Amino acid sequence: MEQAEIGLIGLGVMGSNLSLNIAEKGNRIAVFNRTPEATRQFYAHAGDLQKQIIPCETLEEFVAAIRPPRPIIIMIKAGDPVDQQMELLRPYLSAGDIMIDAGNANFRDTMRRFDHLKDSGLTFIGMGVSGGEEGARHGPSIMVGGKEESWKRVENVLTSISAKFNGDPCVAWLGENGAGHFVKTIHNGIEYADMQMIAEIYGILRDGLGMSAAEIGEVFDKWNNGRLNSYLIEISATVLKAADPISGKPMVDLIVDAAGQKGTGKWSVIEAQNMGVAATAIEAAVAGRILSSQKSEREAAEKIFGLPKIADLPSDKAAFINDLENALLAGKIGAYAQGFAVMAAASAEYKWNLPMPTIARIWRAGCIIRSQFLDEITSAFTKDPDVANLIVTPAFAQMVKDTDGALRRVVSFAALSGLPAPALASALSYFDAYRRARGTANLIQAQRDFFGAHGFDRIDGVDKHHGPWGSGLGEFA
Ligand code: NDP
Repeated sequence: MEQAEIGLIGLGVMGSNLSLNIAEKGNRIAVFNRTPEATRQFYAHAGDLQKQIIPCETLEEFVAAIRPPRPIIIMIKAGDPVDQQMELLRPYLSAGDIMIDAGNANFRDTMRRFDHLKDSGLTFIGMGVSGGEEGARHGPSIMVGGKEESWKRVENVLTSISAKFNGDPCVAWLGENGAGHFVKTIHNGIEYADMQMIAEIYGILRDGLGMSAAEIGEVFDKWNNGRLNSYLIEISATVLKAADPISGKPMVDLIVDAAGQKGTGKWSVIEAQNMGVAATAIEAAVAGRILSSQKSEREAAEKIFGLPKIADLPSDKAAFINDLENALLAGKIGAYAQGFAVMAAASAEYKWNLPMPTIARIWRAGCIIRSQFLDEITSAFTKDPDVANLIVTPAFAQMVKDTDGALRRVVSFAALSGLPAPALASALSYFDAYRRARGTANLIQAQRDFFGAHGFDRIDGVDKHHGPWGSGLGEFA
């Protein structure tokens, strides 16, 4: 029997869809699942694609079915199960075989797995996959980290199954070891911020302007034809217009306002902090989800404090809705600028040489944050790949100049009305701090020197100094 080009372990939601995608694109694939019944079910429902699939019930049979050097995608629950699966697989593998962890791994685990396999003759790829179930089936965005020669072995298959933006495949090798999983983590961090900002704008339209879910859905639909065109705005519009089949009420109004999270947003924030990069909008989004989950505490607090009166609305409602659209764009620019700044810092720290234009390029389709906007980011980074911050590229600087007034008016309205808009407000504060040459940290430096003798630099360039605080330190203490 003809051997498979690739193997896949883990026929859950993602693994089964990815396998069908791989088979559909003309690649022969061997599949295995810990519980054999899932393999049987998967194969039974594969229809015409069965001829491209080799279902296996033992690891020995599975490995033998793949053409060496064997690329094996492991698409199972992240964390310890991946280590366990890798150890079970190892005895059957030969030099040159490639284990590919395609789950949502913490990039630190990916780095560790690389080190673990370093002198074994086996290689490892840490591969971020975005796009959910639908993306896995019809074209995800794929972020690959590992040895370039391992990538060469899988490049054709991965290119065939990836999403395409105007024919351009949304897959790329991004660097050694943990690069792919790191970029996927930051993708998810940006996704958190994007979703939070959309929810904040929804809150202002619902509670500030008193609009119904369906009316807000119409607004989002309109925005989806403009500069905010994106998958997240599109699905938000669809969700807002959907009715509950049981009560006939807007579905979204019946959903408990407590958001779940699996950890990638938190990892983005932790890594941003580790790297010393301000990622305030992503931090606000993670904090927003945490606060959302404290439902009973919020209910108790509302009983104590009540809710403030909604501020007077500008007389021109249409103009204010236009402000909301621009505010969302301005906030989004801040969040993406922060995410790319975290990746630039990590790239330097881990010597990945992450290609920023390529990252923006492979996020344009297939993934959850896919949008027209990412095409503009691709252009900006292509023209200026080493720029310090996205917001100072000419195209984005102009966009910020065009929209920051709207963000200011929207954040002010939200603050005066007691409507939480933490991610939008953080993006605004980030911009205001970033573009102000003379800030206020001179006072912080003075305080640090006063209580901790940390010293400070002087604006006249004279060497490190202490202040005349009368604390016994004194000038030149
Ligand atoms: P599912 O819950 O649908 O499937 C889990 C799979 O993991 C099953 O095949 C299960 O096998 C297997 N598994 C669990 N524990 C072990 C173990 N100890 N040893 C071997 N196999 C094990 O998960 P998903 O398909 O949704 O997710 C898979 C990975 O993809 C995760 O890392 C997830 O974070 C990531 N991901 C998910 C996305 C999504 O939208 N769902 C999007 C992008 C990434 P069994 O049938 O035997 O239980």
